[in-house]
Amino acid sequence: MSTSNYDILIHGGGPVGLACAAWCLQKLPDAKLLLLDRNPENDVDLQSADSRGIALSHGSKLLLDTIGAWPKDCADIHRVHVSQAGRFGRALMTREELGQDALGHIIRYRDIHLALRAALRKIRAGLAPSNSHFLWMHVADETQPLNINTKCIVHAEGGLFQKQDWVESGRDYGQSALVGLIEVESAPTHQAWERFTAEGPLAILPSHYGEHILNLVWCGSPEASQKRLHLSDSDFLDALQREFGSRIGRFLKVQDRRLYALGLNYRKDIVKGNEVWIGNAAQTLHPVAGQGLNLGLRDAYLLAETLAMVFAAAQIGANSNPLEAALQNYAKSRKVDRSATIGLTDFMARVFTSHLLPIVIGRGLALSALQWLPPIKTALARQMMFGRR
Ligand SMILES: Cc1cc2nc3c(=O)[nH]c(=O)nc-3n(C[C@H](O)[C@H](O)[C@H](O)COP(=O)(O)OP(=O)(O)OC[C@H]3O[C@@H](n4cnc5c(N)ncnc54)[C@H](O)[C@@H]3O)c2cc1C
Repeated sequence: MSTSNYDILIHGGGPVGLACAAWCLQKLPDAKLLLLDRNPENDVDLQSADSRGIALSHGSKLLLDTIGAWPKDCADIHRVHVSQAGRFGRALMTREELGQDALGHIIRYRDIHLALRAALRKIRAGLAPSNSHFLWMHVADETQPLNINTKCIVHAEGGLFQKQDWVESGRDYGQSALVGLIEVESAPTHQAWERFTAEGPLAILPSHYGEHILNLVWCGSPEASQKRLHLSDSDFLDALQREFGSRIGRFLKVQDRRLYALGLNYRKDIVKGNEVWIGNAAQTLHPVAGQGLNLGLRDAYLLAETLAMVFAAAQIGANSNPLEAALQNYAKSRKVDRSATIGLTDFMARVFTSHLLPIVIGRGLALSALQWLPPIKTALARQMMFGRR
């Protein structure tokens, strides 16, 4: 079998791998780029793919706009109401306070894939025929060795907590997230609710289907979540109503229930030689703060910038040092954003599920402080919208 030579190999065509491929191709149209994915290049497999609603920040929107990959099916969040069930302490964040058009946007995971795939095809179609060095390859059989020589390997294989074939640092929160779509009687448009219950956060988020259909992310113990997954629709809706209360009227229907184990799994070193890990392949987070994909997109964008600079500056031979030095600099530059986002998410996941009385009182005070001390609220919202630079 003959060996193929590439500049950059991206392993994994999830949102982070696709975005990285698109930015690399946009910034380095002459590069020999290979994207290896478990899904074929046509979108057929994605019709039944994961449909969870993902909160993307304004920062992610700005990044995706640079490649025309902002999905059209999207719901904007104008207000977020945060509270704890049965305890004092609540906060309301509004777009007006923060001077933004929206606090975030809810998009289905599948739709993010589709928009990125369309953007990648468009960038490829715009390249001159002599620049057709980009290959999008479907890996049907992962046991078959690939005869590929590449200068840089980007790992974007992602994956979910407890489903990854690597475990490094982190923790198991002993929680699962049950997600789905719910139909409600009357909800204010563009509003999101995050309610901290005794078992974990319960988020109700807008959806692009309109004001009566909302996204649900209900975190609880694995046992309770498993039971909820199999409840009849009416028993499930009763249980949800008891936990959430009546502030958006009655819950009428539920569909597309899915369960995910929740934990933190992250690599201390995201670069080894000419290999680099981005997105969930570098860090897998609890969804409490809605940060995993936002952080992964920042990884992908900054990596593409790094690669563009180093490949444009020099002819790099396999295993050459300029590339490795540039990747080490990339790893250093990602340290603050990664640590802050991992730390904030881990803190929220632990603090908001603790039953210890001092912590319960402390988080009520923290939510009140958030409400009454606008600078703290703004700083937290900025971290969640743009990350730490
Ligand atoms: C319940 C839940 C809610 C969430 N909510 C939010 C949110 O509100 N906001 C947010 O920012 N994040 C959220 N996240 C996190 C977000 O889903 C992930 O951070 C994001 O999907 C990571 O993207 P990725 O491309 O790195 O990995 P993935 O999405 O896992 O994609 C990896 C891709 O690589 C492919 N692949 C894997 N192995 C191979 C291989 N060996 N060869 C070829 N291809 C391979 C897979 O088929 C897949 O397509 C949530 C997660 C969960 C579980």
